[in-house]
Amino acid sequence: MSADVASTLRTPKSYALARRALDAMETNKVWPTPLNFELWVHYLAESDGPVAAEIDSVLASGAPFTDQVGERIAALHLPAMKLNGELLEAGKSLTDELSNVSRAIESARETNEAYDQQLASASQDLEKDGSARDAVEALSHATRKAREDNKALESKLAETNNELTRLREHLDQVRREAMTDALTGLANRKAFDEALERACAHAEKTKEPLALAMVDIDHFKTFNDTWGHQTGDQVIRYVASVLLRTAEGRGVAARYGGEEFAIIFPESRTANVMDAIEKAREEIGSRVLKRRSTNENLGAVTISTGIADLQPGESLAGFVERADGALYASKRGGRNRTSIAGAKRNESRAA
Ligand code: C2E
Repeated sequence: MSADVASTLRTPKSYALARRALDAMETNKVWPTPLNFELWVHYLAESDGPVAAEIDSVLASGAPFTDQVGERIAALHLPAMKLNGELLEAGKSLTDELSNVSRAIESARETNEAYDQQLASASQDLEKDGSARDAVEALSHATRKAREDNKALESKLAETNNELTRLREHLDQVRREAMTDALTGLANRKAFDEALERACAHAEKTKEPLALAMVDIDHFKTFNDTWGHQTGDQVIRYVASVLLRTAEGRGVAARYGGEEFAIIFPESRTANVMDAIEKAREEIGSRVLKRRSTNENLGAVTISTGIADLQPGESLAGFVERADGALYASKRGGRNRTSIAGAKRNESRAA
């Protein structure tokens, strides 16, 4: 490759990543479909992530990387939901952009090949007497053509790079929305499931502790029936805002469903998170809420909480079930309290 072409191909990091992904796919005989491309960009960008672990395991098994394999990995590790439609559209644009670039590269390659031949033949001509003028003319023409093609390639690559950046930002935004609960802005149930799976795998691998808190608003149904759904939604938002602050810098707060929430505390034990949970419970229970439309006094809402430590070898479902069991121990014990899940019984700390 000539020095001109090499300098033209000098592009920002994101573009290099896309190219590495295509190279790796080709090496491993993987078709460059938009979905595979997305997976392989993940594979290279996060070499210790779950997508990389799945792909490594397929490669190690020697099994072919079929569309079904790609779809299975994507379904497990890439946020689905409304992302699918967006992905198809983004994938189509990506495919179009990649075909444009590939055409531009091919054209520049052909021009440079011709240029090389011209150089070789001109240097032969120059060695012969009398043909120097023809050789210089041919050379100058070929140089001009190579420059023009390289300029066109450069601007095509810049355009494509902009388009890829736009697509990536759009996909990031869609992915964020697909993982966020619209009412509260907390992680949604899907994001919670994925985060808990990752946190459990990390805890198993590193032998670090992992604590989980399940939280439920007391008597929410009565509150909703008395004051209406709109005010009920505001209460959910209020509790969420306190839990978000509680989790800040320490873990992930999620809306588990309806009026139930969860906080994952990686590298923590229940003993370390008890104070923060209790502070949140006390803060929520001591705030007198107002009905926004009429300014009526709504009184305070309270929450019940259950916290659990991940046990060695425990399943995800078992872990959630024990934290939920502690939460229901708090409910049975009179609500507005926190219980710690034990091996056999739950200990409560009441208001
Ligand atoms: P929001 O209504 O969007 O309010 C967001 C934040 O703006 C609140 O966060 C608070 O910091 C501030 N804010 C809004 N309205 C007032 C107000 O009248 N007085 C004061 N001092 N600050 C105000 P915060 O407190 O964490 O609440 C989060 C969300 O919880 C609120 O979102 C709202 O949806 C709900 N919420 C909180 N308190 C009440 C309440 O007394 N009544 C109702 N209906 N909803 C509430």
